[in-house]
Amino acid sequence: MKPGRFDLVLAGSCGEAVSLLGGREEAKPVAGSQSLGPMLNLRLARPAVLVDLSGCAELRGVTEQAGSVVYGAALTHAEFEDGGLVDATPGWLPQIARRIAYRAVRNRGTVGGSLAHADPAADWVVTLRALGASVLLAGPEGEREIALDAFFTGALATALGPGEIIRAVRVPRRGAGARWGYWKFCRKLGEFAKASAAVLADPERGEFAVVAGAIERAPVALPEAQALIEGRADPRVVVEEALPFLPPERRALQATATARAIAALREGESE
Ligand SMILES: Cc1cc2nc3c(=O)[nH]c(=O)nc-3n(C[C@H](O)[C@H](O)[C@H](O)COP(=O)(O)OP(=O)(O)OC[C@H]3O[C@@H](n4cnc5c(N)ncnc54)[C@H](O)[C@@H]3O)c2cc1C
Repeated sequence: MKPGRFDLVLAGSCGEAVSLLGGREEAKPVAGSQSLGPMLNLRLARPAVLVDLSGCAELRGVTEQAGSVVYGAALTHAEFEDGGLVDATPGWLPQIARRIAYRAVRNRGTVGGSLAHADPAADWVVTLRALGASVLLAGPEGEREIALDAFFTGALATALGPGEIIRAVRVPRRGAGARWGYWKFCRKLGEFAKASAAVLADPERGEFAVVAGAIERAPVALPEAQALIEGRADPRVVVEEALPFLPPERRALQATATARAIAALREGESE
């Protein structure tokens, strides 16, 4: 199938993108088009106007701040993978990016597009949620910042209001004492995960997180994160209690992904 007719306009700045969108339902932003493109082709989305953010320099910058690094929403997965960007973490962002699909997708797909699309199986969605990231939004009412735990409201659902776009993503800085682990189960390379887990231990800041992804709703932060990471709680028991809506075989897969992400955190190796 081919997409329906639409107009494509290029935004030169963040403000221009917001005004071109104009809060209209029939206008949609597009960045790498890796998720929106297939939806247009299948006519699951039929916008009359697409506002292209991908060439907007303002959405492609990196700003270093005291406790965080702010990444423009239109930076591609490949740009993170290639390691040319300042990393808020001890080298984890390129490792996350290189796990996304394959290079052709990574060359076009953007971090902002991935978060806005909010597929619970997507790599940035689960890992940045665990890393305590937030998104900076720009819209007709001005700018606001919202933590990812509140931004994701369901599978493919976010707190983005009409005409709002993600301008940037703030990733808290993590020191050398912080540890991270990530595990996803895919049937084959380049496919979306069937179960995934991202784990953070940052004792310096007293932050511990274990986040379950690929669960067909917004990623869930599991309770007892520190106890899970320190081996004082059993992933099977915690997953059983925290994700009762999953069928038993999916819960088992999720518990194993959690255990492997924790093992990766301890060993310094993630899959
Ligand atoms: C074959 C294939 C395999 C894939 N495998 C994986 C995988 O393994 N892991 C993974 O994580 N992802 C995977 N993806 C998805 C890919 O990472 C996409 O890049 C990503 O989901 C969307 O980014 P995009 O820039 O292409 O967004 P687009 O497709 O341009 O847009 C997606 C949605 O976000 C909106 N949007 C885009 N940018 C913004 C913004 N700045 N503010 C507000 N709304 C915005 C659009 O309106 C649209 O609704 C795969 C895609 C393909 C085609």
